[in-house]
Amino acid sequence: KSTLDINKIRQEFPILDQQVNGKPLIYLDNAATNQKPLRVIDALSRHYKVDNANIHRGIHTLAERSTAAFEETRKIIAEFIGANEVEEVIFTKGTSESINLVASSWGRKFLNEGDEVLISTMEHHSNIVPWQMICEEKGATLRVMPIDANGDIILEEAEQLISDKTKMVAFNHASNSLGTVNPVKALVEMAKKVGAKVLVDGAQATSHLPVNVKELNVDFYALSAHKMYGPTGLGVLYGKRDILEKMPPYQGGGEMIKDVSFEKTTYNDIPYKFEAGTPDIANVIAFKEAVHFINELGKENIAAHENELLKHATALLKDIDRVKVYGEAKEKVAVLSFGVEGIHHFDLGMWMDAKGIAVRTGHHCTQPLMDHFCIEGTTRASFSVYNTIEEVDQFAAALKDIIKKF
Ligand code: PMP
Repeated sequence: KSTLDINKIRQEFPILDQQVNGKPLIYLDNAATNQKPLRVIDALSRHYKVDNANIHRGIHTLAERSTAAFEETRKIIAEFIGANEVEEVIFTKGTSESINLVASSWGRKFLNEGDEVLISTMEHHSNIVPWQMICEEKGATLRVMPIDANGDIILEEAEQLISDKTKMVAFNHASNSLGTVNPVKALVEMAKKVGAKVLVDGAQATSHLPVNVKELNVDFYALSAHKMYGPTGLGVLYGKRDILEKMPPYQGGGEMIKDVSFEKTTYNDIPYKFEAGTPDIANVIAFKEAVHFINELGKENIAAHENELLKHATALLKDIDRVKVYGEAKEKVAVLSFGVEGIHHFDLGMWMDAKGIAVRTGHHCTQPLMDHFCIEGTTRASFSVYNTIEEVDQFAAALKDIIKKF
């Protein structure tokens, strides 16, 4: 059971204290993006008020201050995910760009005709489409690990799909549509047996689950700051040094070079080789405050509270007529996807909004997963540390009320 003082935590989130359509806001769309504590907002504003300058090449004081604050975040992220070295942490626009970087740079060099890339049925489009694109270009084949009715990967079948042809196994640590927590270690073990690389999409995992890239022995790990109480449009790609060093640059421009002439350019060392152009300096600097927020509360405490909410919400929903829950994996993050017989999810989402409740509706960027369940989409409630049991009760009551009327 969680010992966190949720009311005190909520005071750090001014956005939660508002009325929507005349009702107190209940924000249950945290898997899409969660809210930002004041310390993150303040860090952004402080940067622009006091320290703003471009980083790295400047020798004036503001440039030095900005550079130090920027690189400090890299160090904090390296510690947060258990990377061996800070140079293995690359800043990107988000999980999507992190995966695109690997698919195009690693894929361009290391994928060949006849090779295979293995993903799972429950991948987000951003862990499907980049692989499809590079497979098409290289004449490689995309294969898919099946899942069972609860939303767990069927490991025996996954093992059958892995062969000497498999060069990359890419899957999410936790599913944004079903909440499933995937068995990273078991899948890494299977992949390593055939010498395949592993990329884990950690977008939904990093604020709830322990992540240690060294222990997990993954080659790449992708995450988004905005799903961990940090700024939008910012993410990280972790990669093992020896692989990153062998990969060609992803984009060309400033920062990623050592020397440029019209005849030839030599590239910078990692991580800068993969960070062309002026990065999102302010957001990177503010991101460290989000990591401090998570560390101060303790991921295990956050997870304990969210799991309580999930358990309570699941029990309430399963008791309501016409409601079907999608995703009952052995281990889950706090994502609750469901359908209501006779009510379209878009209508349900609108009526929830009329009651001040923010939920997500649709395919959640996982269309092949929806196809698997033979549905168009679901309604999804997802919980963060600032949500309360009372909010879950109100959400379930609102749902009952809507179902009664329609
Ligand atoms: N993978 C998963 C599992 C996600 O939930 C998301 C965001 N919904 C992404 C990838 C993409 O993240 P971003 O939009 O921040 O690039």
